[in-house]
Amino acid sequence: MPAQILDGKHLSNVIKGEIKEEVDAIIAKGLRPPHLSAILVGNNPASESYIRNKVRSCDQVGFSSDVLRRDESLTEAELLELVNQLNQDEQIDGFIVQLPLPDHIDDQKVLLAVDPAKDVDGFHPFNFGCMAQGLDCFLPATPYGILLMLDRNNIETSGKQVVVIGRSNIVGRPMSILLSRKSKIGNATVTLVHSRTQNLEAICKEADILISALGKPFFVTQDMVKEGAVVVDVGINRIEDATRKSGSRLVGDVDYPNLLEKASFITPVPGGVGPMTVVSLMLNTLKAYKTKHAI
Ligand code: NAD
Repeated sequence: MPAQILDGKHLSNVIKGEIKEEVDAIIAKGLRPPHLSAILVGNNPASESYIRNKVRSCDQVGFSSDVLRRDESLTEAELLELVNQLNQDEQIDGFIVQLPLPDHIDDQKVLLAVDPAKDVDGFHPFNFGCMAQGLDCFLPATPYGILLMLDRNNIETSGKQVVVIGRSNIVGRPMSILLSRKSKIGNATVTLVHSRTQNLEAICKEADILISALGKPFFVTQDMVKEGAVVVDVGINRIEDATRKSGSRLVGDVDYPNLLEKASFITPVPGGVGPMTVVSLMLNTLKAYKTKHAI
């Protein structure tokens, strides 16, 4: 039987509709809408496109938003000062610092400077620590989006073998922690594989749920996947494609066409995890607003 497509675009629109209803109710009470700010340093085209999507999503759910654009030459001290200003601004419920930052700026220093109460990307070690211990916090947007996707599609995780490929602080590692937690979408037996893992193919083949977040096109091939596995493709890779006007197209980490007959569920790229990441950012911003206003 062909795999069921986990349509992140559709699901994210459903969730945006739910957020919009809450925002309408907030505004009907005479309160201001939630506000998300984004800091964008330099002019990386991929970052520009991510920011456009985030601003569009804010409009769709009824949030106000703004983008603070700064030149590539911005110093680390100037960026830290900007972060500090946003931390203090009462009208801003949450903000993000779009990554990657220019090489002369230390990402970690900047992320540490963000007030954890406004850290709607969930990257601050305070939120990461709370996440690991199952305490209330902002979950990192991409793993949060994947949890929502599994939950809303009634995909059981309890007792399942999960393999996560990639150990970054923003995707792979938090994903592996979240699915191993004692919670509704969790209770899985999780293996995290990475660039130094031996026998990676054989380990992946044991997975009931395989989550790939490494950023290499067509890395996950048919022979690495168990029949009937759930395949979640986080990767976003641009490859050349002479048939396209632009000369390129986006693909994930997974050999999608050849897995359609083997997987039970699979996420497409684009239109899978990406939109779920953005909607999770909206959910975190709403949470920041509600916490601040004690709603
Ligand atoms: P990263 O580069 O920080 O981490 C990649 C990880 O993959 C590393 O931990 C590394 O150990 C592992 N890796 C690299 N080569 C490997 C190999 N040959 N075998 C096994 N593991 C290997 O990347 P990231 O920020 O976690 O992003 C991963 C991918 O996900 C990228 O394509 C990125 O664009 C995409 N991404 C998508 C979304 C989304 O919303 N869809 C969000 C964030 C990142």
